This record gives sequence, structure tokens and C-alpha cells, in this order.
Amino acid sequence: MPVTDPTLLKIVESRLLDRLVCRKCGARNPPGATKCRRCRSRNLRPKKKRIGIKK
Ligand SMILES: [Zn+2]
Repeated sequence: MPVTDPTLLKIVESRLLDRLVCRKCGARNPPGATKCRRCRSRNLRPKKKRIGIKK
């Protein structure tokens, strides 16, 4: 389902930017997490994906 509401889209984008992705199992973790919620690995990396932002 595509997101068409601009306000909602902004929230979705910022949430995607804030996600932490586990390098071990690939699970997405909430921002600020220190351990993976699935495999408890601490090998998390921030998911930095620019959507619609050009610099
Ligand atoms: Zn994991």
C-alpha cells in the first residue's frame, strides 16, 4: 500500500532512517537499541537510507 499522505510519509521516512539493522540476522531494531531483539547480537548498524533527500 503506497503512502500518499505527505505528513505520514515524513514520519515513515524518519522511522526508516532511525532503524538499526542487525548485521547477523538482519532484523530491524528500534532506534537506541544496543542488542538485537532477535539474536541478541550487538552487531547493529544504523540504516542510513536517504529517501528524497539530495545533498
Ligand atoms: Zn540479530
